[in-house]
Amino acid sequence: MNALAATSRNFKQAAKLLGLDSKLEKSLLIPFREIKVECTIPKDDGTLASYVGFRVQHDNARGPMKGGIRYHHEVDPDEVNALAQLMTWKTAVANIPYGGAKGGIGCSPGDLSISELERLTRVFTQKIHDLIGIHTDVPAPDMGTNAQTMAWILDEYSKFHGYSPAVVTGKPVDLGGSLGRDAATGRGVLFATEALLAEHGKGIAGQRFVIQGFGNVGSWAAQLITEAGGKVIAISDVTGAVKNSNGIDIAKLMKHSAENRGIKGFDGGVINKDNADAIKAKYIIEAANHPTDPEADEILAKKGVLILPDILANSGGVTVSYFEWVQNIQGFMWDEEKVNRELKTYMTRAFRDTKEMCRSHHCDLRMGAFTLGVNRVARATVLRGWEA
Ligand code: GLU
Repeated sequence: MNALAATSRNFKQAAKLLGLDSKLEKSLLIPFREIKVECTIPKDDGTLASYVGFRVQHDNARGPMKGGIRYHHEVDPDEVNALAQLMTWKTAVANIPYGGAKGGIGCSPGDLSISELERLTRVFTQKIHDLIGIHTDVPAPDMGTNAQTMAWILDEYSKFHGYSPAVVTGKPVDLGGSLGRDAATGRGVLFATEALLAEHGKGIAGQRFVIQGFGNVGSWAAQLITEAGGKVIAISDVTGAVKNSNGIDIAKLMKHSAENRGIKGFDGGVINKDNADAIKAKYIIEAANHPTDPEADEILAKKGVLILPDILANSGGVTVSYFEWVQNIQGFMWDEEKVNRELKTYMTRAFRDTKEMCRSHHCDLRMGAFTLGVNRVARATVLRGWEA
């Protein structure tokens, strides 16, 4: 099932549980606006290269649309659409005053030089600058993009609209980025996991963790879980996988990964088809967006595995993006301790509100989070009305 079909299926199930009017349901599903642009740049060798860029603005009932921009060779309209929709429900679950959006460019960022990436980012920004803005749509990093990408967008956007740091989040701290934003998604994963385990009378300390992905989110989660006394026994990324039942040395692995563009070749056991089955998880924390499709959801539920869904588990990134935007608008900077403390409050509350929906609608955590998010967006939509 593709990402859009899966996300829409989850949404429809939530709409049913909430007893939403079918017309309202339809209007919530259709994106507010879908943008597709051609981005042609000269490569370093003088030849031309063309890429397709997307920005899907899904919903703005609760505030400016918000979401990352990803650079990946598999970016396609359906995927961006699904991810934009997930942002709408995610910002509502986190209860931050935003809607949802997502963007992407179909490219392999690892094959582009820094100056090619800069040109591509600037051309993309030129194509969408009049459709984003502090109070309309605020991009952020996602897979394949980072603080530097945001700095280029900010600079290019500012040529048209004057200096506007709040137009993107996840910026370098020197340009008004928030302290703690880089670690925020991973730290949010830690707080959400703590809240989930606490429900079962457990803590992070002494638990064993397996992490899929070792980019910004996975590496921070691994580091913070280790600091909290958890044992990370296996990690995989696109290049390979390592395992160490005594706990992987995360600092060493981060150094190795930075030097070798991936974890492949790190000293430690390798996970393969013969031992992968031995990893039996009780809980799955979805730190990535849409990592589990509905069929897998059902299989895992039958096996008794509890899944903490993406729109709750990884909402720490966009939550600190919100803190960054607030700081920019106020022209004020919070210290990191305040950022982390506020993040914990938001994550714990999102978990508590989700559990409340699970109880009142007799559903699992994914549907608890979906009903929570969809209900908040539906309420805002009805309150704003449709009068032309
Ligand atoms: N790309 C991140 C996400 O999927 C962050 C989005 C944001 O900060 O706007 O939640």
